[in-house]
Amino acid sequence: MERWQKILSESITSLDELALALPIEKEWLRPVVKQYPLRITRSYLHLIQERNDPIWRQCIPDPREQEANGFSPDPLDEENVTVAPKLLHRYPDRVLLLVSSFCPTLCRFCTRKNRWKEEGKDATWLNPAMEYIEKNASIHEVILSGGDPLMLLDDELEKILARLRRIRHLALLRIHTRVPVMLPERITPSLCRILKRHHPLYVNTQFNHPREITPPAVRACLRLADAGIPLGNQTVLLKGVNDDPEVMKNLMQTLLTIRVRPYYLHQMDQVKGTSHFHTPVQKGLEIIKYLRGHLSGMATPSFVIDLPGGKGKVALLPDDVKREGKTIYLKNFRGETVQYVDPYCNDV
Ligand SMILES: *Cc1c(COP(=O)(O)O)cnc(C)c1O
Repeated sequence: MERWQKILSESITSLDELALALPIEKEWLRPVVKQYPLRITRSYLHLIQERNDPIWRQCIPDPREQEANGFSPDPLDEENVTVAPKLLHRYPDRVLLLVSSFCPTLCRFCTRKNRWKEEGKDATWLNPAMEYIEKNASIHEVILSGGDPLMLLDDELEKILARLRRIRHLALLRIHTRVPVMLPERITPSLCRILKRHHPLYVNTQFNHPREITPPAVRACLRLADAGIPLGNQTVLLKGVNDDPEVMKNLMQTLLTIRVRPYYLHQMDQVKGTSHFHTPVQKGLEIIKYLRGHLSGMATPSFVIDLPGGKGKVALLPDDVKREGKTIYLKNFRGETVQYVDPYCNDV
């Protein structure tokens, strides 16, 4: 067993274990955990300084997860763009392949939290997805997502990457992972050697708060960067975690110093069980406006909304939002005008 596997096996997965570390109301949280399980790596848990701080909110279950507030389990209509098991094809040139259903820490705001219980470790599901990609020459890029792709073992990941690399029309590979934050020990020299063999390969991480940039996380990012991997970051805009221009400024600035380029700032998807993390669209615009004025151009990510109904992502700039009451009108990549309801717009 590798060191990271041992660390992973020591993660907290039950309320009884959690109650030994933190003052939680076990009985109150039981129904939540029954619906949405609990998993937290010890190193991430140790970043908590006090109740409801930005780390606590991201990983500790909350009774509000059981409120739907009109949100659906699949607002992005991922089901409708699923073209083979675990393969999502929404944009013409790129696909998303969900290669793992496992994460070291379960984020309470996870877009796929209503699919957490779908496990399935056997590799045969991959064949139809691979055949689809092989047959569609318009696909130039495959994004490995999950779960967390870096939760696969080295040789499992190597097999998938090697198989993808045999497809002539694929130019780019990309991995979306929160492992540098949640389990930085997983970024081993041998993993980097594997990734390096399959360039051009990009990695997008997800740091949501400056306190997540710990010395081990920094070492993990530098190791990936030294393997020639361009690193991007996708931050999720979360109420009570990072919905503050100063916090974001600090986060984006620090990311650049560890060779991670801010890529997206995501408006929360309207996923059932996450409504307590939602911010008004105006909040994201305000943050972008603030960053633009104060930091290196490289530090400003694009603020994006993934439109409901599978209409795709749109990037918003501070001064071009057309609004009528709670409804915003946005143009997507196909040129369609899509109505987006901003339910929390009065919370500014
Ligand atoms: C977000 C997403 C992508 C990647 O979009 P980029 O804008 O290239 O980062 C690809 N496919 C699907 C289905 C997505 O939801």
